[in-house]
Amino acid sequence: MSHERFDDLAPVYALGALDGDEAVEFERHLAGGCERCQAVLDDAHEAFATLARSGERVAPPPHVREALMERVGAASRQRLPIERRRSWLRWAGATAACVVAASALTAAYVAARYEARLGVMARETARLREGLLAHEHALEQQLAATRAVVDLLRDPATRVVALRGAGPSPQATGRVVWHPSAGGEVFVANLPAPPADRTYELWTIAGGAPKPAGLLALDATGRGTARLEPTGGPVDVFAVTLEPAGGTSAPTGPIVLASAK
Ligand SMILES: [Zn+2]
Repeated sequence: MSHERFDDLAPVYALGALDGDEAVEFERHLAGGCERCQAVLDDAHEAFATLARSGERVAPPPHVREALMERVGAASRQRLPIERRRSWLRWAGATAACVVAASALTAAYVAARYEARLGVMARETARLREGLLAHEHALEQQLAATRAVVDLLRDPATRVVALRGAGPSPQATGRVVWHPSAGGEVFVANLPAPPADRTYELWTIAGGAPKPAGLLALDATGRGTARLEPTGGPVDVFAVTLEPAGGTSAPTGPIVLASAK
């Protein structure tokens, strides 16, 4: 039997596209130890593996591309006998199919990698944006408090009251800038973060009666600022207590900061 038939079958077999009697026939021929067909198989597998290995590049590596173009070019340039030309074209077709398959695999792989990377970048960007917004918000609050204090300090009726740490947080410090009819601002530092189910609450005390004056949020360094609304009367003592989250209408927890009477 002429070998030309196997020249035709080898590349098709390399792609796994040969079946039925032809596959059996070709495998029997290959098992007979045909080096020529084995070389075709090895060549095709190597071309495919090189493309698959080429990682993120969608285009085939230059040497594979050149080899392919050379083969296609040679096939069209040479005046091969009809049968030979057919087999070359079939080989070129099979190789092109390999390139297309490998390119599709590579493109899908690259797309998946990029998608994953874009996802990570999007999450990172969202996290940074959140951080910046929180930072901006904190700065705006600080600026508003500073402006309010500057305005208050222009008025001779304004007084600055020192707060001292007490109970569970003797290291805590604070100041209240207070104007009887305009209210004021409270600044604290060195307060430990409250337990998860607790919050710091501010109080104005007049005639021994404490009045809730809002909650005090802390930043990561234990500093906090809050606005105090005017009480409509004199204030004897400013205090901060540790209360259940959300605050209470009358103090229940320990005093952590208080002004002298
Ligand atoms: Zn052979």
